[in-house]
Amino acid sequence: MPTYEHICGNCQHEWEDIYSWKDPIPNECPECHKKGKVKRLISLPAQGVVELTGHDLQAKIKSDAQKMKSDMHKSENMYANMLGEEKYQGIQTKMDTAKRERPKIKKSRKKS
Ligand SMILES: [Zn+2]
Repeated sequence: MPTYEHICGNCQHEWEDIYSWKDPIPNECPECHKKGKVKRLISLPAQGVVELTGHDLQAKIKSDAQKMKSDMHKSENMYANMLGEEKYQGIQTKMDTAKRERPKIKKSRKKS
């Protein structure tokens, strides 16, 4: 039987319960015994418990993207420090050249 996680909208108490999917969500909070305030949380493996809807989900995606961007920027700076600014500039130029050359290669392959 699956394990379901619940949160009480009244006292924020969280608990796990095991029951069949056919059974209804518990109505009463075991902590404060308030009825009709119990919500079932969606359990995602590896990510823990999330309860995201609409605006929250969009905000999370946005913050994740921003975090990824700043992480990438950080590691790029670290890489530059390790190599030394001059060498790094050289690599950047090489990368830029490679990017510019790629479409040319594609075109010549199409012809032949
Ligand atoms: Zn409660």
